[in-house]
Order: sequence, then structure tokens, then C-alpha cells
Amino acid sequence: MYKYARLKFTIIFLMSLLLSKTIYAQRQVASEITLNNKTAITPTPSCINESSVYKKKYSQQSFYIPKQGDPVITLKITLHIFKPIADSGRWQMDNNKINGTEALRSMLDSITNGHQERYAAKRRATYAKDFNSPHIRDSKIRFEITNVYFYPEPNLYTMYNDQALFEYIEKVDPKRIEEGMPLVFNGSNGPGHLSSYKGNAAIVTTIGNGDPIFARSHLLHEIGHAFGLGHTYVNTSGGGSDWQNFGGACGSDDYLSDVFPNNNPACQNEGQATFKPTNAPCMSCYESSPDTSNNVMGGQRYNLWMSPLQMGRRLRNMHLNSNAGRNLRQFAKDMESDHKNVWTISKNEDWDFDIQLYKDIVVKAGATLTIKCKVAMAIDGIIKLEPGAKLIVDGGEITSWCKSGNWQGVQTPAVKKKKPGDKSATAVYIKLLKGGTINKAKMQMPLN
Ligand SMILES: [Zn+2]
Repeated sequence: MYKYARLKFTIIFLMSLLLSKTIYAQRQVASEITLNNKTAITPTPSCINESSVYKKKYSQQSFYIPKQGDPVITLKITLHIFKPIADSGRWQMDNNKINGTEALRSMLDSITNGHQERYAAKRRATYAKDFNSPHIRDSKIRFEITNVYFYPEPNLYTMYNDQALFEYIEKVDPKRIEEGMPLVFNGSNGPGHLSSYKGNAAIVTTIGNGDPIFARSHLLHEIGHAFGLGHTYVNTSGGGSDWQNFGGACGSDDYLSDVFPNNNPACQNEGQATFKPTNAPCMSCYESSPDTSNNVMGGQRYNLWMSPLQMGRRLRNMHLNSNAGRNLRQFAKDMESDHKNVWTISKNEDWDFDIQLYKDIVVKAGATLTIKCKVAMAIDGIIKLEPGAKLIVDGGEITSWCKSGNWQGVQTPAVKKKKPGDKSATAVYIKLLKGGTINKAKMQMPLN
């Protein structure tokens, strides 16, 4: 029996053009592992985002619209406050009620830990009041402040130069800049805005005490930009407008059809016909007083409405490194993979994109999942292969994105022990091609 298995192994091995490692589910023995290792070559990932499944499914914000049972993802945010030398200025390191740590905490509390950053209000608008935008309350994303750091640096307190601020923080302690998405307060009086440092999203603003409602709306809005959301009003000073789909056509992939009513009669009322051709044929309008809504990106106070597609885009950017590579997903808090609400793969899929997951994957019978780029699983995540399903790691990598724990591994169907004389072929569940690798898994798979 062993001899036969070995022979079969060799045949499959040759068929894979000498570039592959073929592993028998739960049958491989030490000598075969050694054999495989001899053929180990450098991985050749193919992260080209061109597969049809990427274009039609995984790149679409609509795919990520949250469902009821979905896991909640936590975005870590680290607050950095620049101050004058003396403990004066917008935020102070004492307990005074006006601008001390208590006041700061209560402001931050309104947008963290599952408060108003997570739950969306219903749409309210002064125009197209019956426009049907389905209300989803739970966006499945919450924010958490990891730490608040104070820097008594008078020059940087008044400096309008993001890079100088980030470099200073990094010099003090490089870990601080990676701890959570940097949210930097100083007193330069420059406008609050989305920034970035070394390819990662960061926010710089001069927010002070005294208007907690403005502070909340402002911070939710700026963090919205970090998630790739644009304004619902026309751009006057950067930030990008979703009404213009960042320059894309109406109806193209990221268009927010659940924010902008088509053939909006308010356009005529506002006499904004000159702007219409930009997003024809939708004939939607950007929001502009008096036609405004309570959308979180609308720039008004008390804004707490997020549409399903906006929520989908936020979640997509926790999975993919999109939004011009601002890599917000790297600030996701470590979490256990959801074993209940899984991603089900029921047809052959080629994953030629880099994705960070929060749920297990189940590959259904008859389907093959081919990993050509990078898949990063959450803690204890499982890729389960049903009988007859296959996993091919073709130059790509499956690993864990969490720093505090590894993923479980690939779960393959149990292989029955063969009776003497049984010459039926042993099922092959996992193949590693072109240096494809499986890292940081707890299970030795598919070896026992
Ligand atoms: Zn903005």
C-alpha cells in the first residue's frame, strides 16, 4: 500500500511540471516531506487583481454590505496631541473640566467602542424625502483608542507640516506610529484632513474643546475619508467627492446609488444644470444647502447616516489595501475568525488579490480555490475543504494577519484507512505550486 502511494505521488509530481509540491491529505510521511523540500523554490505571487471573481465580486463595495450575523471589526486609533511647553493649549494633561483629560475622554467616547461610529441613523434629508435608501443600523465596524500621547513641543504645536509631526512621533517611539491609525491634534489652525505616513492613513486636525457635536461629526467625517469615502457635496478644498465618484462615471463601480437619488428634482431647483453632465446619465445632484442630508460625509452637524454602500466600502477597505493604498486594514485589532458566518466558495475561484479576512472559508464539494496572491486569516481561522473540494496555493501565500495569534489551517475531510489490496486513488486536497506557501498555521496540514 505504501509503495503504491509513493508511486502515485511520483506521477502527480511529474505531472505538475516539477514546479509543484503535491501533498496527500493526512497521508504524507517524513520521506516525502524531504523530497518536497528539495523542490522548494521562491514563491512567485501573482497579485494582479485581474480575475473575474475579483472584478465582479471581491472588488465591489456591494459585496461587503454588512449582514446581521457578521463579526464586528475594530479599527485601532492612536491619539497624538502636540502642545506648547506649558500645560496650556487645546488639550491639557490634567483633570480640569473644560479641556482636561475628562473632557477629551468624553469627546472620544462619542466615536469609539461601539457608540456613534458603529451605528447609522436613518436617512433624513431636506430633498427627495421618499428616496429609498435601505437602513442598516449596524455597520459592523467600531473604533477603539489604543493610547493618548502628549508631546510638549511648541514648534510642532503650531506647525502645519504633517510629515514633521509623524517623523517626530516615530523618533520618540517607532511603535507608536504603528499602534493604531495616527490621529494627530495640534494647534496650527490648518484644516483637519486625511493624511498619510509611509503609505498608511493618518489624520491631522486642530480640534479643540468646546463643541463636542462638531468634534464628533468632524472626526467621523475625517475617518470616513480614511475609509475611502468622499463628500456628498461638491469639492471645494480636496477630500474627493462621491457625487462625482472621484471623477468616475455615474453607475461605475463605486457610485453610491443609495446616497444620490437619480433624476433628482432638487437639481433643477438649485439651478445646477451646468454640473449635470459630470455624472450623466444619473442626473443626481451633490448636496448643497438647502438640499442636504444627515449623511456622515455631508459636512453638517449631527450627521450619523451611513448608507449600505458606504458601509460596504468601509468594510472592503478593511479587507483590501485599496483607497489609494492607504492600508487602513493594518490597523485592525486582532480578533478571532468568525467560524459561523463563513465565506462560502461554491465555484472555482482564482484569488489574484491580497486580502485580509475576518471569517473562515468553506470550499464546497467540486470547487477549487486557487490562491495566487496573499490571503491573511484571523486568529484560529480555518479554510475548510468539503469532500471533493480543492485548494491550490499557486505562487501565493496563506498566513495570519494577527500579531497575537496564528490561524488554524486547512481542514480536510478525514481520509479512511485503506484496507490491504485497496488500490483506489487517494484524494488530493491541497497543492502548492510555484513556491506557494502556507505560514503561521497551528495545524500541520494536512499532516497528522
Ligand atoms: Zn472632508
